[in-house]
Amino acid sequence: MINKKMYTLGSHRSVIREIFEFGKKRIAEVGADKVYDFSIGNPSVEAPEAIKETINELLQITPSTNVHGYTSAQGDPKTRKAISDNINKRYDKNYTADDVYLTCGAAASLTISLRAIIDADDENVIVFAPFFTEYRVFVESMGAELRVVPALMPSLGLNLAELEKTIDEKTVAVIVNSPNNPSGVVYSKEELTKLAQILTKKSEEYHHPIYIISDEPYREITYGVTTPFITDFYQNSLICYSYSKALSLPGERIGYILVPNTMEDNKAMYAAICGAGRSLGFICAPSLWQHVIEKCAHLTSDLSIYARNRDLIYNSLSEIGYECVLPQGAFYLFVKALEDDAYSFCKKAQELDLLLVPSDDFGCPGYVRIAYCVSEDMIKRSLPSFKKLYESYHK
Ligand code: PLP
Repeated sequence: MINKKMYTLGSHRSVIREIFEFGKKRIAEVGADKVYDFSIGNPSVEAPEAIKETINELLQITPSTNVHGYTSAQGDPKTRKAISDNINKRYDKNYTADDVYLTCGAAASLTISLRAIIDADDENVIVFAPFFTEYRVFVESMGAELRVVPALMPSLGLNLAELEKTIDEKTVAVIVNSPNNPSGVVYSKEELTKLAQILTKKSEEYHHPIYIISDEPYREITYGVTTPFITDFYQNSLICYSYSKALSLPGERIGYILVPNTMEDNKAMYAAICGAGRSLGFICAPSLWQHVIEKCAHLTSDLSIYARNRDLIYNSLSEIGYECVLPQGAFYLFVKALEDDAYSFCKKAQELDLLLVPSDDFGCPGYVRIAYCVSEDMIKRSLPSFKKLYESYHK
């Protein structure tokens, strides 16, 4: 017998992957310079030179088994220490290597965290729309219900009034993603303070902690603001980080979970994280990359390139007449579709070889997501097509 849920998941690509695959086919037909693929969040900025140099140094080490061998299941202690030291320095904390669990990127950090928390089929996990589409897959695969708090319009901030109505005694966690994919919004200190007050009150009322799972792969990619650090607001938070975005290493699958030592039952939660990693087969993140991170945890790639792209695409599309949400972080622009049905709008865009992602699966219909982690040149070349698309709706 084949698991039906897994078959369905495996035989249908996500909308983003579907469009990305279409883009590759289209490029083969008409050439890369004629296709404007804004579908996927694959960093366009190169990783810092230090990454290459560190890999080269590591590859000289003999015996090579010291570099490529298994590490502890939760990751090499020196790498975990380098990460906790880096967090302590930046956010004035006192975390230790024993609070860090190394993972294969944010997706693994999220699934391990969910597995460590979800205990029964009638439990639920809450997300705020718009949200990263894979949350639904992750939560439902763990047997829990995904509850979506509707988007707060027009700011797309945290809809806290609706959150209060959505939580019940079976809520075990709330996923917070800031800077947000797909909106580019960074949640403010005021919003996080209120969120923490609600979760503290509800945890007391229901006699169990309601955890925040803070999904932070874009933490350092911000424009004129700083991402508030979640444990300044709420101790019962698991931090899911990845080096995929700010360090441009998405294919290398390396990240971590921070289980803050200030969390209630921190030792038990860390043990559950280790157990969840074990049960999912996510032990010993790629060793070479663990050793790279030990030396490079403090680095990012040149993020100013995304800032320039953001200004270019936001200003250009706004000038044409599109209604855009000004991104404060990440590398996505959330734009109002020019008709109610974002799928139909994306189809029309596709006819002009503009590959955009409809927002329905992000839980916020009527918009499209534009991933501007692409070359500046491509953004410039795409602008006449964006203009043509706009004019086709305003004859
Ligand atoms: N969370 C969010 C919000 C993302 O945008 C992504 C990837 O795009 C992930 C998690 C998964 O990141 P990773 O590639 O590190 O697994």
